[in-house]
Amino acid sequence: MRFGLHMRLSDGYEAAVERSRALGCKTMQVFTSNPRAYRQATPKVEALATFAALRARNDLDPAVTHTPYLINLASEDPKIFSGSLNLLKHDLKVAALAGIALVNTHLGSYGKRDREGGFAAIAAALEEALAEIPPTVTLVLENSAGAGALAGGTLDELGALLRAIDHPQLGICIDTAHAWAAGYKIDTKDDVARFVDEIDKKIGFDRLRMFHLNDTQIPLGGNRDRHWHIGEGLIGEVGFRALLGFAELRGKVAILETPGEDADDERNMATILRLYAEPA
Ligand SMILES: [Zn+2]
Ligand SMILES: [Zn+2]
Repeated sequence: MRFGLHMRLSDGYEAAVERSRALGCKTMQVFTSNPRAYRQATPKVEALATFAALRARNDLDPAVTHTPYLINLASEDPKIFSGSLNLLKHDLKVAALAGIALVNTHLGSYGKRDREGGFAAIAAALEEALAEIPPTVTLVLENSAGAGALAGGTLDELGALLRAIDHPQLGICIDTAHAWAAGYKIDTKDDVARFVDEIDKKIGFDRLRMFHLNDTQIPLGGNRDRHWHIGEGLIGEVGFRALLGFAELRGKVAILETPGEDADDERNMATILRLYAEPA
């Protein structure tokens, strides 16, 4: 696997690349848009090309863009729906300019809408975004914590979207904390084996493009999106070691979105690299 962290860009591309390199990362995830705004600035083409060159020199590809949290492709509100679709298209374009291969997005929430109508809206939005996706980029759908009306909380639903759209540049990201919150038990070797088998059957290992590796303190099926330090939550070292041991997953990109400060990042990277080096 290629491990990396979600990196803030507040100190610039160079600082983020340097921190990633110093921590032993082989990939990184960033926000290339303001994560809390619908209106986005015009992409700075030269700066994005510099970011691509910096990553290439430091062996940090394939890298990941996380789209803004505002995105809701299941919304009945036409303003929110079209704003979300525009943000998604914007990030796909910016990713191509920055040499970023994977664009990870949340799907959103059905709200009070029936799931069938919401599912059709998501599928239509994804088809429109994929119709103009740059050839170097893959759009990756992240599983949700499954709270109430959130879309994409189950492998069944994500698999159904893959089949409904059937585009080669569409993939899936599994966030371990979200999976746990949605009720997937992944804290023992046997449970992880069942989970990986279900991923194979419903998603397919080729379509599974990346992981968000996060531990959690939310009870199993608790439907809340909270991340915790690797090995220090309810998934624990046993769960992560089991997951990292699968030969089919060893080529994947894996981003840590763990909380805390620089010292926590160091500890979390060290833990995941240790667990990867000594498989179950
Ligand atoms: Zn996310
Ligand atoms: Zn995530």
